[in-house]
Amino acid sequence: MNQTQLRNLPSVDALLQMHTVRDLDQRFGHTLVVEACRDALDAARGAILAGGDAPMPALLIDEIYTRVERAARPSLTPVINATGVIIHTNLGRAPLSDDAIAAMKLAAQGYTNLEYDLDAGERGSRYAHAESLITRLIGAEAALVVNNNAAAVTLILATFARGKQVIISRGQLVEIGGGFRVPEVMAQSGAQLVEIGTTNRTYLADYARALNEQTALVMRVHSSNFRVIGFTHEATLEELATLARENKILCVDDLGSGALLDTRAYNLAHEPMPQESLAAGADLVSFSGDKLLGGPQAGIIVGKKDFVDALKKHPLTRALRVDKVTLAGLQATLLHYLKGEAPKKIPIWMMLSATRDELDARAQKWAERLRAKNFDATVIDAESTIGGGSLPGETLPTRALVLAVASPDPFAQRLRAITPPIIARIEANRVVFDPRTVLASETDALVEGIERVASQGAH
Ligand SMILES: *Cc1c(COP(=O)(O)O)cnc(C)c1O
Repeated sequence: MNQTQLRNLPSVDALLQMHTVRDLDQRFGHTLVVEACRDALDAARGAILAGGDAPMPALLIDEIYTRVERAARPSLTPVINATGVIIHTNLGRAPLSDDAIAAMKLAAQGYTNLEYDLDAGERGSRYAHAESLITRLIGAEAALVVNNNAAAVTLILATFARGKQVIISRGQLVEIGGGFRVPEVMAQSGAQLVEIGTTNRTYLADYARALNEQTALVMRVHSSNFRVIGFTHEATLEELATLARENKILCVDDLGSGALLDTRAYNLAHEPMPQESLAAGADLVSFSGDKLLGGPQAGIIVGKKDFVDALKKHPLTRALRVDKVTLAGLQATLLHYLKGEAPKKIPIWMMLSATRDELDARAQKWAERLRAKNFDATVIDAESTIGGGSLPGETLPTRALVLAVASPDPFAQRLRAITPPIIARIEANRVVFDPRTVLASETDALVEGIERVASQGAH
């Protein structure tokens, strides 16, 4: 009986001759449709061999439709971040300001003066665009923008420490996430790592003892995603900069996030600022474009002009360069800071500064809408976090929507399967939605998405 059912399945060619499938072919192209026919037939065969029945022809066609439509959708897609983690690296870090988005669209759409000097009518520098904005904002002599901060650190070490030694405290040999480990990146650049001190205590004297004629630089890496508490000590950046100057080597500070606004004004601990590192005497400072800066992915290096010039000339710089779209978004983001409007225009600062009352009002509105449809929705006190290797352990009080469901994990999984996917948090066996990281424009999609999943029954 199985054999008959298997034999009765249509061939791929027969499917392709059907007018409904030919229709699909017109819309989505031959490659995707053939693949969907094969996969749908494979699935049908599998079902029959497992003892099931052959699908009715209409069901088979439905299956082909579903598969083609899924395959024709880009896999990178917007999601709603209801986790309350503001700089969520897995969810693409900082959402951008309207001005940054507009600038990126314009740059993408046509030609730009990316490497063209409009005054002289000849070749210009791609690096000129963001550099003057950054130097003015931070008070640095010079600046360079590369692909990301990991690239910035690699470039600095490859330029100044290849085949030489870099002194770093054991307390700072960290893994940042996604397998980015400071010692491994340093090794890639051809620099030899000299680890000093201990996990919890490293003194200036440890650095001084490790110095020799092979030493190219002393490096500080900000412990951006963890905190050591208790019996601890690290040398200050001032001490390292002085030591470096006296010994004619470089002092480099990898800040990670690098805030351009003082986070203390937002009831948070102080996140180090690049201007402070320069004032402390660091020769070069690096930080990300898409962490607390709130811009597109980029790595920003600021510091002394001679050193930045040497970086610009290194062949790796060509391999790590940023594109016109990134530069356009970064410029627009930096302009917000220069115009003093960053807290009002840059999404991550708006999220950081949202008050408990504002968040409560939003969560209550969501809950009301859901209760109107007879779902068990309440609003509770919760905590948002910063994420993205910034301000570890710091939280912001928030008000979050809670939905009572029997099994939170499958529920959260179904929320991720709809369009747009909703990423929620599970806390104490409840599904929690934090309004802090949900954009105002996403409100309806969020509430309707929750309704849809909650009414799928059995939860
Ligand atoms: C995040 C981080 C990096 C890597 O920055 P990317 O922009 O993600 O490449 C490097 N160092 C520190 C200290 C960081 O926090």
